[in-house]
Amino acid sequence: MPTAEIYALGSEIVLGQTIDTNSAWISSKLNDLGIETVKHVAIADDIEIIKSVLNNSTSEIIIIGGGLGPTQDDITREVIAKVTHRKLILDKDLLNTIDTMFRSRGFLMTKNNERQAYIPEGSVKIHNPNGTAPSFAVEDPRGVVFALPGVPFELKWLFSNEVTPYLKEKFTLSDVISYKILKVAELGESNVDHLIGDLIA
Ligand code: ATP
Ligand code: MG
Repeated sequence: MPTAEIYALGSEIVLGQTIDTNSAWISSKLNDLGIETVKHVAIADDIEIIKSVLNNSTSEIIIIGGGLGPTQDDITREVIAKVTHRKLILDKDLLNTIDTMFRSRGFLMTKNNERQAYIPEGSVKIHNPNGTAPSFAVEDPRGVVFALPGVPFELKWLFSNEVTPYLKEKFTLSDVISYKILKVAELGESNVDHLIGDLIA
């Protein structure tokens, strides 16, 4: 069974301003697919810290949420390129898609939106119909890394409609994760452990 790690990028998360609900939601969906999540990590918008954390990942499936916006603190693209040893390249089609999206809403793209059209060389582009942040997947000898926007509505749509079929295609997902819930009353937890420790183990 492949395992997954989920990284929530954003200083607002580690500063306690935003609660990371994305990771919990993704885990429950991975669970339904028979994929065990082994790590949730929230990381500040700091390229060196993110790099060191990602370099220590050990799962086949890495899902990164956030940091795909147009501003200076949105560094997911750069970090994934560094960690997977790829160049960041300007994707003309992405640039056109972003430009068209702005025009269709009656706005003109600003220069910093161009940042969003850069993706690691050789990425699989994932079209995000609900926002300007482009999503992508990078195949690595160790597995696959997905970059998803942090906006919950965009992230959930992309996970359900793009990431799920991708995972089903790439991995043999035949296992089912099942749980047994035992409800116990009027016993302290140490006593319960004493009585059914073998079951818990
Ligand atoms: P982008 O979404 O373009 O990749 P970003 O994630 O850095 O960039 P933010 O402006 O930080 O964009 O977040 C956009 C919105 O998504 C904010 O309202 C933020 O609270 C919410 N959000 C970001 N990450 C999470 C998360 N892990 N869980 C819940 N909400 C989140
Ligand atoms: Mg952010």
